[in-house]
Amino acid sequence: MTFHATIVTLFPEMFPGSLGGSLTGKALDDGKWQLDTVQIRNYALDKHHTVDDTPYGGGAGMVMKADVVDRALVAAQEKGLPDRKMIYLSPRGRPFCQAMAHDYAQTSGLILLCGRYEGVDHRVIEDWSMEEVSIGDYVLTGGELPAQILLDATVRLLPDVLGNKNSLENESFELGILEYPQYTKPQNWKNKIVPGVLLSGDHQKIAEWRQEEAERITRERRPDLWQAFLKTRT
Ligand code: SAM
Repeated sequence: MTFHATIVTLFPEMFPGSLGGSLTGKALDDGKWQLDTVQIRNYALDKHHTVDDTPYGGGAGMVMKADVVDRALVAAQEKGLPDRKMIYLSPRGRPFCQAMAHDYAQTSGLILLCGRYEGVDHRVIEDWSMEEVSIGDYVLTGGELPAQILLDATVRLLPDVLGNKNSLENESFELGILEYPQYTKPQNWKNKIVPGVLLSGDHQKIAEWRQEEAERITRERRPDLWQAFLKTRT
């Protein structure tokens, strides 16, 4: 089973975008995952191809129409396995995190609905029982970048996509804390010297130093993660 992502969007030309480069792009070329798009506007039936209308109750902006988005979602489902999870990218959604990327990487794929304007008529989200996912506490102009971020984090976790699986093990969030600082050659750069322990060849000491640094950085920068990490140790 190849992981299959279908993007439902008013801007299909934005894909694969950043997903076409580097590891995710190579994996796409190698057929380790599949990506396609559905142009929502193609499912607007009037002669002006209208996809939005004014919000009930008044207020600024426009809302994407339920009937048009619904037909686009039917088309998206027809492109792949019908059991794929359906996600609406939304600032009101569940905050995206590494654990969610791991969960998605275990599935047959995703259908990702990208909003524009003030978003999508809520009835269509409910009707399809879509999960709402946010990539952070800020508002972007559309769901296309969030969809690429969600897919980038997910696709690199698919089997055989990341060249060196070991590099995943200590990454930020994998063990509930942030990663330790990394260094490479030269040993002395602008009189900043690489910590001596990393040159010692003593693997036990290196592992201890890295763990201490990872914990220190997490404690200082992310008290929320640190408290959750402490709970896992008690
Ligand atoms: N009126 C909406 C609100 O206040 O929650 C914001 C709509 S935003 C301008 C248009 C679209 O961008 C949304 O429908 C969503 O698909 C996408 N979007 C914006 N910010 C996002 C975020 N932080 N996470 C995920 N999607 C986002």
